[in-house]
Amino acid sequence: MNKERLMKYAELLVRAGGNVQKGQPVVISCSVDDAYFGRMVQGCAYDVGASEVIMEWSDGPTTRAKYLHGSDELFDTFPQWTVDKLKYNNDRGAVYLRVDSSDPDLLAGVDPSRIKRATKASMAATREHSALLMSNARRWSICAVPSPAWAKKVFPDLPEAEAIDRLWGHILKGARADGADPIADWETHKQNFVKRVDYLNKKAFKSLRITTGIGTDITLGLVKNHIWVGGGDMGKDGVPFFPNLPTEEIFTMPDRNQADGRVVASMPLSYQGRLIEGFEMTFKNGRVESYSASKNQEALASIIEMDEGARRLGEVALVANSSPIGQMKTLFYNTLFDENASAHLALGKAYPNNMAGGADMTVEERVAAGCNDSLLHVDFMFGTQDMQVVGISEDGSETVFLQDGEFID
Ligand code: ZN
Ligand code: ZN
Repeated sequence: MNKERLMKYAELLVRAGGNVQKGQPVVISCSVDDAYFGRMVQGCAYDVGASEVIMEWSDGPTTRAKYLHGSDELFDTFPQWTVDKLKYNNDRGAVYLRVDSSDPDLLAGVDPSRIKRATKASMAATREHSALLMSNARRWSICAVPSPAWAKKVFPDLPEAEAIDRLWGHILKGARADGADPIADWETHKQNFVKRVDYLNKKAFKSLRITTGIGTDITLGLVKNHIWVGGGDMGKDGVPFFPNLPTEEIFTMPDRNQADGRVVASMPLSYQGRLIEGFEMTFKNGRVESYSASKNQEALASIIEMDEGARRLGEVALVANSSPIGQMKTLFYNTLFDENASAHLALGKAYPNNMAGGADMTVEERVAAGCNDSLLHVDFMFGTQDMQVVGISEDGSETVFLQDGEFID
């Protein structure tokens, strides 16, 4: 991929994504495989006036080796110095940028209990940090770049170099970063969400009934004073940002006690290096009552059984079939892309900003109002070409606002 194009993409992440302001520290998480790109992002961050850019380098094979060969007690603890480091950077008002190129099979064959325990330890230790990010008290943004392993997973029939090239093409197109002025294109993209979000917020539906041809039939109660969000987010400090590049979804908060029916996933879920396939769940009073998967059910179980909140929903997100990523008809094995191809639900923690005043409430107050809380937030896709969404109002009247996978305007 040519350098000028990549520079524009790096700039998009810094200026539109995290919207880094003068004098702010920036933390960039990046794999050593993508160092060339990570340094471009670093350069852009200094260009806009970052006070310091801290690189958090990672290496897939090193992570895998630890899971395979590290001593067992490692997976029940999380180093306090890492927590302290997060606090240090949060106290300085850092912006967090992530360059993702994860190998979907990185942890294939690793003892699932190690993954589960390590996730629990890390989520518990970094709870405060996650809460800052999820309530937009700190800005953050994620973009993706292809790694050889990921590109080969998506395009197994192509030689490696070609697969990488093809994946770059898909990523830049999907992230609307393939035009002459991606930052301006994102401004336009954002405006297109306003109308739809305003419409749904005015409607203030009591619940949604969602059906698909592959068997989903679920009614989701929405919390009172829920807020639909889409096309970027607003930092607590009033500085707008885009947490995800790409973003094609509009999403809101289901009531943690009001999901009833069956949900059939429409795409496999790549979770911590394992691919969960052919799965479905049945909900009653907001809680997963039963579930099954044709492959890696154990990984699905490790999500659902993480804690009480992981059995309940924290997000309902709608995506039109006609989104650029939806049109690619490609399974990316990467949530950032797959969730923007299709309507999805998230098990686990809800975004406080999806409820009026939510970010200023305590966790207990939020939970009492129907907002879900958990160590986890895991998105899975259930949208299809024939999805229908009906909004049900307080007075019982019904409005179909999404039909055959497209919004009705
Ligand atoms: Zn989402
Ligand atoms: Zn989500």
